Amino acid sequence: MVSKKMEPLLQNNSAIRMMFEEGNRLAAKYGRENVFDFSLGNPSVPSPACVNQAIRDVLDEEDSLFVHGYMSNAGYEDVREAVAESLNRRYGTNFGVGNVLMTVGAASGLNVILKTILDPEDEVIVFAPYFVEYGSYVRNYDGKLVVIAPDTETFQPNLEEFEKAITPRTKAVIINTPNNPTGVIYSADTLRALAAILEKKQQEYGGSIVLISDEPYRELCYDGAVVPFVTKFYRNTVICYSYSKSLSLPGERIGYLVIPDEMDDSRQVFQAATISNRVLGCVNAPSLMQRVIKRCVDAEVDVAAYDRNRNLLYNGLLECGFSCIKPEGAFYLFVKSPAEDEKEFCEVCKQYNVLVVPGSSFACPGYVRIAYCVSYEQIERSLPAFRKIAAHYHLG
Ligand code: PLP
Repeated sequence: MVSKKMEPLLQNNSAIRMMFEEGNRLAAKYGRENVFDFSLGNPSVPSPACVNQAIRDVLDEEDSLFVHGYMSNAGYEDVREAVAESLNRRYGTNFGVGNVLMTVGAASGLNVILKTILDPEDEVIVFAPYFVEYGSYVRNYDGKLVVIAPDTETFQPNLEEFEKAITPRTKAVIINTPNNPTGVIYSADTLRALAAILEKKQQEYGGSIVLISDEPYRELCYDGAVVPFVTKFYRNTVICYSYSKSLSLPGERIGYLVIPDEMDDSRQVFQAATISNRVLGCVNAPSLMQRVIKRCVDAEVDVAAYDRNRNLLYNGLLECGFSCIKPEGAFYLFVKSPAEDEKEFCEVCKQYNVLVVPGSSFACPGYVRIAYCVSYEQIERSLPAFRKIAAHYHLG
């Protein structure tokens, strides 16, 4: 009954399901407070107060038929304008209502833009380690995922390999900065070099290559780090943004695409993306959340809370002898596995009630992802367990 295309997804899903069930099994046996689940990227810092207030205000102040009604498939014009103006204020850009398309989160934004531009067998380049769903999204439109091996020194994209991987079938490149799972921010130098390669290859092959910048973690950065704004480096950039992490609203499903005027066939791409939003069945981004975004367009979660978690866990792990690049953004640590097979390391962690995700889930074996979007207390309580795991491997 189930389609051939769905069969591998069914199998993969059971692995994630098993991790979830393992967490529940351990919690039932040892008590929830003694199980240290670092597997999920679910925000642990509440939405800013203005978000809940805006939900109330929208319901109190705006017409009910309007708030719960259909609107343009690209979203409310006043909301799109507010988003454009906020970006212009913060990044010195020049976007308008015609550049912003409201989406059902980043997952949907990525699907919308991939549906808009991909023909079967078109190639989409990603840099390992990468958010595993990219593969599924590209396959949704019969595209081919091309994976560039990681540079495990810096976790910046490996540009030498990248240049060699571009072919006349390359239609898009997806980058994600700050990065899930490494927390690395792609530097301005990296983006400049990446853009130069793309420009050169566009000229060589005579087509357009779209750089899709997936940015759900854009505002989550630490120690004054700056996330360079990608449209400034390369004309054919589409920004894919989400409020899931920046306003802690993952269940509400709200984000946007930016399709700049400077892009090739910009108007046509925008219109086609609006139609993609409709025919993919999203129709439009959630109306109530769009109204809320208009009122909270510059709001941010308490990033300092994630920063405290980051420092506690990073320093704690280093003291035990683990090695890990210090994340500049997002809320993940990507730790080198002390065992050659990181899945074996995950199993050992489990024996100490610590749940982490193997790097092979991000096409980067030999590492594990630890999501520190948990309570500070969970990290404090988990440190003795990490010390025991380190002793198990004779680290430190
Ligand atoms: N892209 C990356 C890199 C992510 O980490 C996530 C979620 O964790 C998404 C996209 C999907 O985000 P959304 O909830 O907006 O669909």
